[in-house]
Amino acid sequence: MSRYAALLSSLDLGFTRLKNRILMGSMHTGLEDRRYNYPKLARYFAERAAGGVGLIVTGGIAPNRAGRLAPFASKLSADWEVAPHRLLTRAVHGEGGKICMQILHAGRYAYHPFAVAPSKIKSPISPFRPRELSESGVRKQIRDFIRCAVLAKKAGYDGVEVMGSEGYLINQFIVPRSNHRKDRWGGDFGKRMRFPVEIVRGIRDAVGPEFIIIYRLSLLDLVEEGSQWEECLQLARAVESAGATIINTGIGWHEARIPTIATLVPRCAFSSITGKLRKYVRVPVVAVNRINMPEEAEAVLRRGEADMVSLARPLLADPEFVRKAARGREEEINTCIACNQACLDHVFANKKASCLVNPRACRESEIQYLPAKKQKKIAVVGAGPAGLSCAVTAAGRGHRVTLYEKSVDIGGQFNMARKIPGKEEFEETLRYFRKQLEITGVSVKTGHECGSRELLQENFDEIVIATGVRPRLPAIPGSDHPKTLLYTDVLLRGKDLGKKVSIVGAGGIGFDMATYLSHAPESSAPEPELFFRQWGIDPDMKGRGGLAEKGPEDIPSPRQICLLQRKDEKPGKRLGKTTGWIHRLCLERKKVRMISGAEYEKIDDQGLHIRRKGKAEIIEADHVIICAGQEERRELWDELKKKHRNLHLIGGADRAGELDAKKAIARGCFLGGRL
Ligand code: FAD
Ligand code: NAP
Ligand code: SF4
Repeated sequence: MSRYAALLSSLDLGFTRLKNRILMGSMHTGLEDRRYNYPKLARYFAERAAGGVGLIVTGGIAPNRAGRLAPFASKLSADWEVAPHRLLTRAVHGEGGKICMQILHAGRYAYHPFAVAPSKIKSPISPFRPRELSESGVRKQIRDFIRCAVLAKKAGYDGVEVMGSEGYLINQFIVPRSNHRKDRWGGDFGKRMRFPVEIVRGIRDAVGPEFIIIYRLSLLDLVEEGSQWEECLQLARAVESAGATIINTGIGWHEARIPTIATLVPRCAFSSITGKLRKYVRVPVVAVNRINMPEEAEAVLRRGEADMVSLARPLLADPEFVRKAARGREEEINTCIACNQACLDHVFANKKASCLVNPRACRESEIQYLPAKKQKKIAVVGAGPAGLSCAVTAAGRGHRVTLYEKSVDIGGQFNMARKIPGKEEFEETLRYFRKQLEITGVSVKTGHECGSRELLQENFDEIVIATGVRPRLPAIPGSDHPKTLLYTDVLLRGKDLGKKVSIVGAGGIGFDMATYLSHAPESSAPEPELFFRQWGIDPDMKGRGGLAEKGPEDIPSPRQICLLQRKDEKPGKRLGKTTGWIHRLCLERKKVRMISGAEYEKIDDQGLHIRRKGKAEIIEADHVIICAGQEERRELWDELKKKHRNLHLIGGADRAGELDAKKAIARGCFLGGRL
């Protein structure tokens, strides 16, 4: 019997059967918004369907103009808009899959001046104050949802998902936070929930019994004046009676200041709450958020917490997730590390989504790693993310690849990243690459510092230099003082540190260093219970919104930390859009002092001497850790560039400034795909 018998078992919905318990959760990719991108979107979905996922849900499509997320975002409200959707449904059905279209009305989250909402209350994350809907306006929104579902059926979808969570319009009707109406659409809970119930009932009446209706219900709003537990149950039963086939769950409004999908959220943290709901309804329920490996997904189902699991980002990272699990090849899964760097951060910046660990995601039509026409002998020097991705992609196409790494293990800087509390998932990427090196037959030579002479003697057809970076040591007087350390001394060489530490440089690594030092040594990822306490979540939902009455519980830092930068701007301003606020908040709660606009004068026995706005200050420190960016390590390139014709430079070795793992992996894959 398969290790994942529950996950891979079919689910009978009465009029149709899903081949397994995996739902690909709705994700906005940016391809939905332009008609000419639908062939690309079709290919993207087709690969996931071919990979074996039981049911796909598209990114959100608005039922009318006002409900669009942004001025030119997608909507489905007229017959002429149906045709491109047919490309998607045909592509998925052609691979034996099923697909539902998500209907999403942004309400007050709409990023345009035509936003509407139950009440005229601006959301904290949008500059636009919505117009309050009149009673007839409310009725019109309901009709538009129904028309949208009918059009989706015409387009060949197997069903629709009604987006009732994450703080969008439906959610705004349900809670007192955003619904101050006094008419039949506001007031007590019976009136506040009338809007979604009438939508579901109207859709069911219009589409008939043999069409999937998923209702996405916000279980934990994580905002003040959100829903109470009894209200969630009442709503779940009401949408069930109104005709929903499946209840999917949602965790956290977009305006919530509690992380719900970032990498520091424990895996499956919220599935137990879905489990509580499951006892009260007859329709299948779906658990969501941070379920990224088959073992955990199976455990959620076996514990009886859900009938299905929703994987969204993990299927961006690996379209073959289900097939690999079914064949017992889970070690080959390219795991989503929940970094948000290429998916959500892109979408929020109005860019097309992709994936840090899988740069082909959403570019399936443009990028294909085809078998090599002629086998070449290739050397890749450096087994960081750039070298690894290049080596396995080239070898996967049939080339004979030798990968040289001077350290005892592969991974480059990921060996430091994975030590940061809340970034343990980075280890999964190294596990994935280890397995890929084995499968593709790359000859790996670790503990081998490669020189130019050796490379030339071996007669390689192509040589790829991926030797990465070295930390920058700025010219601060006293940078040779014994209390001055580089971040590599701490994260790779485990130097002991005193109680007072200053960090020079507040970029990604400076923030990570402050996180590392403000946690107890060897602290591991918290269990959900501790995570709930740390973030003030009440899983029993005694109060409103799932917020604990006594608020978050702080665990003090074992050290006094000061994080500095020269730029006179808010520290962390350039971190990821969807995760930067979490890093900042975590450090603030650890009482890390953050200083901008610092001029470094010297480091001596007292500590770090700075000047700020013309005023001198001594920051006492036992150690000063330099996290001041990096420089290219490219001696090998310089030695070889006139001696070998087919020489390539990628990753940090090519350009250290602004290089991150997303770019390093993408450049490695793309070069490996065309050698
Ligand atoms: P490297 O990772 O530096 O790898 C280069 C490799 O080449 C090394 O293993 C080195 O030993 C080897 N090498 C060098 N010379 C030779 C030689 N002559 N012979 C053989 N081998 C050689 N990026 C993100 O995008 N998101 C994050 O959250 C993130 N977090 C980070 C946290 C920390 C603490 C650190 C330090 C970095 C983080 N990064 C993050 C940055 C990311 O890890 C780097 O951008 C990425 O590793 C660069 O990849 P690379 O392959 O070019 O270089
Ligand atoms: P970085 O983000 O560019 O930050 C470098 C820091 O050093 C800045 O704060 C800079 O600020 C300071 N600095 C630069 N030159 C200096 C000098 N000569 N003297 C003193 N200070 C100097 O680089 P990084 O922190 O080394 O990170 C490397 C890469 O990894 C980046 O691309 C980063 O995005 C990525 N990364 C990402 C994450 C993440 O969570 N997404 C985490 C870690 C790393 P001032 O110039 O203002 O002083
Ligand atoms: Fe997951 Fe990061 Fe890829 Fe997004 S970019 S799918 S969070 S690994």
